[in-house]
Amino acid sequence: MSKIQMKTPLVEMDGDEMTRILWRMIKDELILPFVDLKTEYYDLGLEHRDETDDQVTMDSALATKKYGVAVKCATITPNADRMKEYNLKKLYKSPNGTIRAALDGTVFRAPILVKGIEPYVRTWKKPIVLARHAHGDVYKDSEMKINAENLPVKAELALTDAAGNETRQEIFTFKGDGILEGMYNTGASIRSFARSCFEYALDQKMDLWFSTKDTISKVYDGEFKAVFEQMYEQEYKEKFKAAGIEYFYTLIDDAVARVIRSEGGMLWALKNYDGDVMSDMMATAFGSLAMMTSVLVSPDGVYEYEAAHGTVQRHYYKYLRGEETSTNSVATIFAWSGALRKRGEMDNLPELMTFGDQLEQAAIETIESGKMTGDLALITTLENVTKLNSEDFIRAIRARLEQLRA
Ligand code: NAP
Ligand code: MG
Repeated sequence: MSKIQMKTPLVEMDGDEMTRILWRMIKDELILPFVDLKTEYYDLGLEHRDETDDQVTMDSALATKKYGVAVKCATITPNADRMKEYNLKKLYKSPNGTIRAALDGTVFRAPILVKGIEPYVRTWKKPIVLARHAHGDVYKDSEMKINAENLPVKAELALTDAAGNETRQEIFTFKGDGILEGMYNTGASIRSFARSCFEYALDQKMDLWFSTKDTISKVYDGEFKAVFEQMYEQEYKEKFKAAGIEYFYTLIDDAVARVIRSEGGMLWALKNYDGDVMSDMMATAFGSLAMMTSVLVSPDGVYEYEAAHGTVQRHYYKYLRGEETSTNSVATIFAWSGALRKRGEMDNLPELMTFGDQLEQAAIETIESGKMTGDLALITTLENVTKLNSEDFIRAIRARLEQLRA
């Protein structure tokens, strides 16, 4: 059979450790035999980031802006240990942070549901997608420690505008030691977060839930709530109605309780910290961190697909020692299928879109037939399962994919 042709290249961001090994296997076994793959390749492996003083990360983000769709392998965010291990010139920032800042995006995380891997919450029937605002708040804060010296110590918020006008507001007067934190967000970023969420909900035909703590944080969280509400009223109300979906705002604590009682099926938008915490809880509650996809969507319609998990370091060291590994490649496969399908949609290539669907179907059916990696074999409710190693699992998916395409 002739290979599926592409028009525009995908931006391919290679990564680190075990996921880099899986990346190669996925390409060789599941993509290249079927697709005449066009990519613009960027090596975000830590060694190459170090060689290029991290310029390669910025270049890959700019290429994503240019072409519109990227697929990314998990990468190491260096810390002091990694600095030693890789003999780095400096402690580079998280590549995901750099890419998010360049694309000004929102991160959407969706679980991959398969029969036999049951959510811990019995009522959940449909996936719950999380939208995390990936800008500002506590991730870009300024913090101070107040020592018990020269008391009392008055803490204030102070603004100085270009004309030199000052506005001050007391926060607290310390009569003992304590701590203080200042954080911010921008109107532009909150608006693009809201827009990305409304667009994603429409695209996926899912209800959109948004929650903050605006009863307590009247100005800060209140602004988030107001931005969403205004955009909904002015631009999305009619479109949502036509699509048969709803926008629903509620307090974060109420939302948590409702989500647990629900059947799922909604897009849940969360501020940066709430999204950080909730996404790990949701991934685990749906069964496995290795079954969670992640896509960064920018307000101007640029998409970057990846797995939600990291580089699976512990498995990589086993691999390096020549031991057998059983690392789950499903989320990384879904990053490829998602990116290829989106590329097909943008370039009007129905064959490429169908291939994306078939690749996902092949992965799901392989697991449902009882062939899976160790992480899933531990939690499945299926009986008589076969635990496969990393390579054999990918080969099993290949066999199924060939059947589907025959
Ligand atoms: P991790 O790579 O997600 O792995 C944590 C543990 O979760 C693993 O040790 C493994 O448990 C299990 N696991 C995760 N993915 C799996 C898979 N595909 N198949 C089977 N088991 C899987 O997180 P980490 O160990 O905290 O981080 C390692 C590196 O990844 C760090 O350098 C971090 O900076 C980076 N990271 C990158 C991204 C990204 O690029 N998006 C995200 C998170 C972390 P067992 O060992 O029990 O089998
Ligand atoms: Mg986290």
